[in-house]
Amino acid sequence: MKKWMTFVLAFCMVLSFLGIQGPVQAAGFNDVPSRAAKEVNYLNEGKIIYGVTSTSLVPEATLTRGQVATFIGRTLQLNGDQRDTRFSDLGKGNAASGFVESVVSKGIMSGTSDNKFLPSKAVTRGEMAVILSKAFGYSGNPEQALLNLGIASGMGDGTFGSDETITRADFAVFLARAVNPSYRLKSTASFNSKLVSTTSNLNIRSGPSTDYATVGKIGANTAVAGAHSIGGWTYVKAGSVTGFISTYYLRTSTGTVTMPPVTESSDSRLAGQTIILDPGHGGKDSGAVGNGLKEKDIVLKTGLQVNNLLKQTPFNVKMTRSTDVFIELKDRSKFAKNQGGDIFVSIHANSASASATGTETYYYSAANPHVADSKLLGEKIQARMLAAWNLRDRDTKSGNLSVLRENTMPAALLELGFISNSGDAAKMASDAQMNKMSTAIYNGILDYYKAKGYSVNPYYK
Ligand SMILES: [Zn+2]
Repeated sequence: MKKWMTFVLAFCMVLSFLGIQGPVQAAGFNDVPSRAAKEVNYLNEGKIIYGVTSTSLVPEATLTRGQVATFIGRTLQLNGDQRDTRFSDLGKGNAASGFVESVVSKGIMSGTSDNKFLPSKAVTRGEMAVILSKAFGYSGNPEQALLNLGIASGMGDGTFGSDETITRADFAVFLARAVNPSYRLKSTASFNSKLVSTTSNLNIRSGPSTDYATVGKIGANTAVAGAHSIGGWTYVKAGSVTGFISTYYLRTSTGTVTMPPVTESSDSRLAGQTIILDPGHGGKDSGAVGNGLKEKDIVLKTGLQVNNLLKQTPFNVKMTRSTDVFIELKDRSKFAKNQGGDIFVSIHANSASASATGTETYYYSAANPHVADSKLLGEKIQARMLAAWNLRDRDTKSGNLSVLRENTMPAALLELGFISNSGDAAKMASDAQMNKMSTAIYNGILDYYKAKGYSVNPYYK
């Protein structure tokens, strides 16, 4: 292989490892040793670690400081936007610049005395222990802390192997064990904090982000026991279920033990944002009818549920209708303007032949200042809706619809599914599925604001 080819290949590998080329969704790596397989899959599910290709993780490669900063930053949901850093050897053009700046400002990693970060330098096991200890707040000797917690085991020769460089596979194992105690070598989670849920229908997830699957649900005012927090999420035991709950929806009971507060301070700009929810049809206008359901009822139920979720955040939220009343199309966009809306989300269900199925989202693409944001809003919600119901992806597309065209703010119109299709309609008739869809739309709205640079991590459900 020519030298330049080696260089290009190495460069591409670094890019894809950092996730620049997008996540490898299926963790079907064929080169991960079995000792690390479940931990790698776990971190891949949380979009913390990606493969070099869809089948290759290159598990025995060394890790650089820039990569470690990226993985820690993703785990703690820090700001990873590429930007200028305080270091002379790390510019905005480096894919890791944002996470490096974030982990350094949190005191998790630091640079050299001559103002360099050395992003390409390989990390040793000893350095890894220090970084993990700082990232997760372990006290005492870092290597001893990892041994005590069952996160690391010593080398065969009885030492920690502090000076050995760490491989990608070993790092994945360490990190997964730090995040989720169920991966540790021994049971060391102490659920010492008495906590109470503050909202209904609260998801318990297998990891500390909404990328992780829901493993259980609890209602409001439910007592849970908390162990530790990661980013804006707390590892809890609720009955027989252990997993992560958004810390924002937990409070301490009786103040006996205080959990660390939500690590990300709330974004004061959120309170200045008004979200308009527009359940379609109503009153004399049933909208689509099929399989024993009326569109006007389904979309009102969805709107009320999304409203309930948003009401627990600093956002302002207004509904064009919250009861079964008829409203003219032009009055919906007029209402949005009068309320000073910042985004507009219209909720509908589709109808066609019995075989038509799927989820789609519309935005208005003719010249107006909000085309790009309308599309972004549609795409973010569409992605969440697809993940929720797993129906056919009918895409985010442009549509000349009154409530979109006449609006003066980023606006999207959602078609949850086809009321005329028995499979889609069965989802609409299910309370559990409707809750799932409403949570998806809510998280999609947060995704939009996150993409626009707002801090919304504490509010994901
Ligand atoms: Zn409709």
